[in-house]
Amino acid sequence: MSPPGEVFSVTDYGPEPRPATPPVSAAGPASPRAFLGVHYVRCRVYGRLYRDEAAGVYAGRCPRCGAHAHVRIGPGGTSQRFFQAYCP
Ligand SMILES: [Zn+2]
Repeated sequence: MSPPGEVFSVTDYGPEPRPATPPVSAAGPASPRAFLGVHYVRCRVYGRLYRDEAAGVYAGRCPRCGAHAHVRIGPGGTSQRFFQAYCP
């Protein structure tokens, strides 16, 4: 009984059709996090407030100065999706 030898057979399959870039899913992640748009007026930049389920707020930070901004989630609130924040 002889152990199977390692036999490599090289075969020319020709150029394999292969996409240059992996396909990109247009749908994005399965469960996108809800977020609100926010305009940091004093820094004149835009950012996002991400939902913080535990705290019951949408929270984010100014990308320029790092100031915290948050919007409370609650009944009787606004359905507004865009807010303005004023950095200190
Ligand atoms: Zn700022």
